[in-house]
Amino acid sequence: MSKKYKNKICVYCGNESSKTADHVFAREFFLLTKRDNLPKVPSCLCCNGQKSQLEHYLSSLLPFGGQHQDAKTNLTEMVPKRLSRNQRLHEELNRNKSYSLLRDSSAQVVTSMVLPFDGEKLLTLFEYITKGLLWHHWQTLLSDEYFVQTLALTRAGEDFFQNKFLNLYSPNRVSVTLGGDTFRYIGAQGVDDPRISAWVFTVYNGVRLSESGTDLGETSTKIGALTGSKRLLEKLPLA
Ligand SMILES: [Zn+2]
Repeated sequence: MSKKYKNKICVYCGNESSKTADHVFAREFFLLTKRDNLPKVPSCLCCNGQKSQLEHYLSSLLPFGGQHQDAKTNLTEMVPKRLSRNQRLHEELNRNKSYSLLRDSSAQVVTSMVLPFDGEKLLTLFEYITKGLLWHHWQTLLSDEYFVQTLALTRAGEDFFQNKFLNLYSPNRVSVTLGGDTFRYIGAQGVDDPRISAWVFTVYNGVRLSESGTDLGETSTKIGALTGSKRLLEKLPLA
């Protein structure tokens, strides 16, 4: 492994010495042919292990809701193998699946399979991803006095997020698509404090995230993330 990732500070916990290079976006989310040049960061073994637990779960689940063609390919070619190695998750999904009516991308009402989905796991994974990208793009580490807050964005929430945070002046902005649009994100870094940042992520061109699964109303398809000092968090209108 290159020296770039070893014996550095782990970007996720900000404490331990790194032992490995972690893919910020796990390779298993991508088709085999679309895994080149994925960002990597220094990670300790503990954070790497906790993050990969989330990745195993989510790479089995998210392709079911993805609107991107690769999500469908992933679903038919890779997910069955993954689930055959994780019998417990497979049975849990089978036991709890249901069907409900949803609107598809052309606003048609369609029957859709709804799987039980632990949204907390998704938001926690994106906390890791946000920290990873702060380091990957700007070599910024968050210390204990800083937070990462992630949330599922409705359409209105996305506009609010864009206007309130991402449109603010920032010399450091990124707009990236990875693996043929498997992941897409935009990020902007604070001017006064590099540890302040805002991000919007799109997974598989929009994954339907509906925890109730029964309403025809709005579901969120994007994830927003903010980092900043804990003092700042109390003033944010997020709760
Ligand atoms: Zn760590």
